[in-house]
Amino acid sequence: MDTKAFKRSLQQSENYHRKGFGHEAEVASVMQTAYQSSLIQQIRDNNYRLERGAVTIRLAEAFGFCWGVERAVAIAYETRQHFPSERIWITNEIIHNPSVNQHLRDMDVGFIAVENGQKDFSVVGSGDVVILPAFGASVQEMQLLNDKGCKIVDTTCPWVSKVWNTVEKHKKKDYTSIIHGQYKHEETVATSSFANKYLIVLNLPEAEYVSNYILHGGDRAEFIAKFSKACSSGFDPDVDLDSVGIANQTTMLKTETENIGKLFEKTMMRKFGPSNLNEHFLSFNTICDATQERQDAMLSLVEEKLDLMLVIGGFNSSNTTHLQEIAIDKTLPSYHIDSADRILPGNRIEHKPLGADLVVTHNWLPDGNIVVGVTSGASTPDKVVEDAIDRIFALKATVIV
Ligand code: SF4
Repeated sequence: MDTKAFKRSLQQSENYHRKGFGHEAEVASVMQTAYQSSLIQQIRDNNYRLERGAVTIRLAEAFGFCWGVERAVAIAYETRQHFPSERIWITNEIIHNPSVNQHLRDMDVGFIAVENGQKDFSVVGSGDVVILPAFGASVQEMQLLNDKGCKIVDTTCPWVSKVWNTVEKHKKKDYTSIIHGQYKHEETVATSSFANKYLIVLNLPEAEYVSNYILHGGDRAEFIAKFSKACSSGFDPDVDLDSVGIANQTTMLKTETENIGKLFEKTMMRKFGPSNLNEHFLSFNTICDATQERQDAMLSLVEEKLDLMLVIGGFNSSNTTHLQEIAIDKTLPSYHIDSADRILPGNRIEHKPLGADLVVTHNWLPDGNIVVGVTSGASTPDKVVEDAIDRIFALKATVIV
């Protein structure tokens, strides 16, 4: 499929919208009330620090809503204003945050159900409005909605579109896109839909496995089995790793993306010689600034003397999980929660350890004076962070200090 031509024709259609509808002012005040927080502003103004009783809060210097998410949520709100009586759907959670998604449900915006891993678009009819989320949608989904005669409101973040353009460049030169990402993540599903040939690597060890295969060959059947869910159909490692380009899910750990890029650059240089590198390797910087800033702020926060970290964000939010990984690397006690309601009376917290199911930990706040590091993922409103901090203050006021 000529994805570039399809996108071009879609963008010219009167049923396709990728900007707001001129209701910015009304929406800004609704968003301010729903999502912003005066306490968080106070902490920001006070050098990202707040002391109350036995608790000192140290907030990361970059956290929470990124502009891509804020833009997507604002466009979704504007869509409701602009189409007051039409049925409105979202192809997925607009962003990975339960409170934002609940707000949209309250505005009578429907979410497309997922059955056995497949979205059920049978509920969507001609003339319905369908919002594509900040992390985008696959080209097949866009085509299906277009064929149904829907009005498409595309809130895909421009940073994500930049990765898609990179993949188009790989395709034009007949290079295989090596995508650093999670093969199930919607953003990576969308990105791979623009590629002709692709291979998705989750982390550096997987990239090293591929690099090793490029340099020394290996067990072809094992390779195909290992990446069976993470490559284009008919992928042949003996043929399709001759020329590669690097792409990424924008929310992965930036240092890992950079290291994977460098690894493949070195691999192709060793295999084909430095003077032939350009015929076998392509790389563009597509790491999103917001993800980078949040990770850098977290790396600097964990250098301080903290008793524990609280990481707030949706459990399926990739960038939040990576913030949690940084705390774990530092061996700091770290608690990932998706809302303040996880902080329970009696000094208990229900949280999600990395890669495991929810657990309840008792006595998570130590006795005496404590310093709590706090950060939140790119899809978490400040209001949610405020509520969590308030609960910590309340808990420490009731436990013996
Ligand atoms: S994290 Fe980056 S790529 Fe993702 S929505 Fe925010 S600004 Fe866009």
